[in-house]
Amino acid sequence: MVVEGYIEEKDGIFSKTQKFVEEILPYYTEENEEYIENMIDFGQPAPKSKDTRTTTVYNRNSGVREIVRKRAEGICELCEKKAPFNNPKGEPFLEVHHIDYLCDNGHDSPENAAALCPNCHRKMHILNDSEDVKKLKKKAKTGN
Ligand SMILES: [Zn+2]
Ligand SMILES: [Zn+2]
Repeated sequence: MVVEGYIEEKDGIFSKTQKFVEEILPYYTEENEEYIENMIDFGQPAPKSKDTRTTTVYNRNSGVREIVRKRAEGICELCEKKAPFNNPKGEPFLEVHHIDYLCDNGHDSPENAAALCPNCHRKMHILNDSEDVKKLKKKAKTGN
């Protein structure tokens, strides 16, 4: 599989990159990929894992998650409930999910991403229900 990360060298982003490569990448697995990426946004430590499979890091548009979170306005785009809690910065906690998985050639764009509460995010990864996928795609493209 291919795992994505930041390799940009702009203010702030580079240190994130370094942290990503040095501390977080070794814990990457297909299972917890997005979970870790959502954590990186808030500077939280990655969960421990013994998995050490080889990964490839390449460019990704780091603005996508910000755009998708703004679009959601603190409301989960699947269950349409308020984010369950705020992050340390006081912003509603929603995780950004790629509707078509990046490892299946899904695009890293706001039209292919949804802001989800942690429950719904888990649900998508366990069931990936076609009705849910349809709903998220419609929302990502049209905003409702
Ligand atoms: Zn939800
Ligand atoms: Zn996801």
